[in-house]
Amino acid sequence: MKLLKFFREHNDEIITLLEELVRRESPTGDKRAVDVLGVFVAEQLRAIGAEVITYPRAEVGDLVYAAWNGTAPGKPILILCHMDTVWPVGTLAQMPVWRQGVRLYGPGILDMKAGIALAIKVIGLLREHNELPRRPIWALFNTDEERGSVHSRELIEKIAAHAGLVLVLEPATEGETVKTSRRGTARYTVYIEGRPAHSGDDPEKGLNAIHEAAHQILRVAGWDAPERGTSVAVNLVKGGTAANIIAPHAEFLVDLRFTTQAEADRLIAQIHALEPVQDGIRLAVKGGIWRPPMERNAQMIHTYSQYAKLAGQLGLPVAEALTGSGSDANFTAAMGIPTLDGLGARGDGMHAENEHVIVTSLPRRAALLASILRDWQMDGEPGAESVEAPPLEEGS
Ligand SMILES: [Zn+2]
Repeated sequence: MKLLKFFREHNDEIITLLEELVRRESPTGDKRAVDVLGVFVAEQLRAIGAEVITYPRAEVGDLVYAAWNGTAPGKPILILCHMDTVWPVGTLAQMPVWRQGVRLYGPGILDMKAGIALAIKVIGLLREHNELPRRPIWALFNTDEERGSVHSRELIEKIAAHAGLVLVLEPATEGETVKTSRRGTARYTVYIEGRPAHSGDDPEKGLNAIHEAAHQILRVAGWDAPERGTSVAVNLVKGGTAANIIAPHAEFLVDLRFTTQAEADRLIAQIHALEPVQDGIRLAVKGGIWRPPMERNAQMIHTYSQYAKLAGQLGLPVAEALTGSGSDANFTAAMGIPTLDGLGARGDGMHAENEHVIVTSLPRRAALLASILRDWQMDGEPGAESVEAPPLEEGS
């Protein structure tokens, strides 16, 4: 089967499903709305032969898991998609689904309803044409990725632990390259306790927590090191009680980004070692790693080399990219599971009012996903047949 040609012929079906997904608005914080989408996604999955399990969640939308267990033994490929978006219900009234040329606009369309549409349609169409590989394929659709996957991380990790490869369908880069490195994030709050006093009558009796915070903030900001991919920023500050009271407390939130765990460890040790500048001030630090880094380590390079072979055979771009922000790929990569990210649609305007996908990218992205599902060779899998290189197909 010529994958690119096949998915070009079926692109209208992908677009139709994508529009249906976008019309079901699903902001992370609105469980009811997300569950409406979840029920729809589960129906779509059952219709293409998946065994579907819904994992209930009280505070966010229920998670949907699908499995096509195939007939061949071996480790499954796990597809990860998130159903939640950053757009509140009602956004569609301002930002309707509409198409201009090759651009299809809508809230959450790129991040990442296009990824969901691709996953469902690629598997569904392959199955319909008896091309679905015999290996097990699993897919997990979570509901709080935009808020750090607090309610889904455990399940993601539990399922991913069995997988031989994890594919994350976050949006593609501008050049349709694959994401092989994502920075990790840590967040720490620094709490500073001083002592209040009237700032006119007896300021010398006070200990100014805001002044202390100012010293500490500049110290922390000095750790910023863009040359090694480290970014340190203080983006939230609170403190004080009134204009004429020496500020008794202050706190600030530090956002730390890093490309390796070693760098994370170094920064975290530094933040825990902060010492007050003024005598008598009490300083406490609370926080932790929000998402571990997805490192471009030896395993990632190895995983990428197989990706590059498959992309090259399709005549698609063979390149990789680093991304500053995190996704669920950070969790699975940090577990040591081979992981590729950014396999979703190409477009622009993530979390912005011009959010759109380039509909002509969808067949290329579908062909790539299909090729990975069909032709991936798991490492060290006994009995894995050697895959004949598929013929070179028409380029993009
Ligand atoms: Zn996303």
